Amino acid sequence: MSSKKTSPVAPHKASHAGADNRPSRSEAESAVRILLGWTGDDVTREGLQDTPARVVRAYEEYFSGYNKDPVKILSTTFSEVEGYDEMVVLTNIQFVSHCEHHMAPIIGKAHVAYLPNKRVVGISKLARLVEIFAKRLQIQEKMTAQIADTLQDVLQPQGVAVMIEASHGCMTMRGVHKHEANLVTSRMLGAFRNDPSTRREFLSIIERKK
Ligand SMILES: [Zn+2]
Repeated sequence: MSSKKTSPVAPHKASHAGADNRPSRSEAESAVRILLGWTGDDVTREGLQDTPARVVRAYEEYFSGYNKDPVKILSTTFSEVEGYDEMVVLTNIQFVSHCEHHMAPIIGKAHVAYLPNKRVVGISKLARLVEIFAKRLQIQEKMTAQIADTLQDVLQPQGVAVMIEASHGCMTMRGVHKHEANLVTSRMLGAFRNDPSTRREFLSIIERKK
């Protein structure tokens, strides 16, 4: 086991306003009430009375990633791996995120791989890492980079690969209404970037697991 305190390059700290100027729960509920009224509905009718409180509770869940530290999640590693030095790949990690431009859902899956350098992390930690970045306001490209860079910086493996495929509510539910459109993003670091055969192996594993 080892614990690292190095701060990765990617911004992991919540970039929202600090505790001092963060709106209160009741201010957030009032804001939802205003949006509800703006739709043209009657905010005083029975069905909508508890909606602002429910929406704020739901937002707490959607955006719970701001309160969690991805570096800490990865800080417990195992070094007794009997010299295991092959690729570790976790495929089809499902997530729900929200786009920072429309606050519309981004629904998709992430495939995460690394080539260990003496140390490995518990596999559930890879899924937790995806979850922490998903539960923030995002754009898919940024989320892909944050996951890859954090893994690289904290674990310092020989390489990292992250691929994300997702559909974006802002495209499927509105705007151009392309229901089937999937955005695919990837970030390859170290061996995955430099060695074509490592990259091919990763791509063929996730292709088989789909
Ligand atoms: Zn959007």
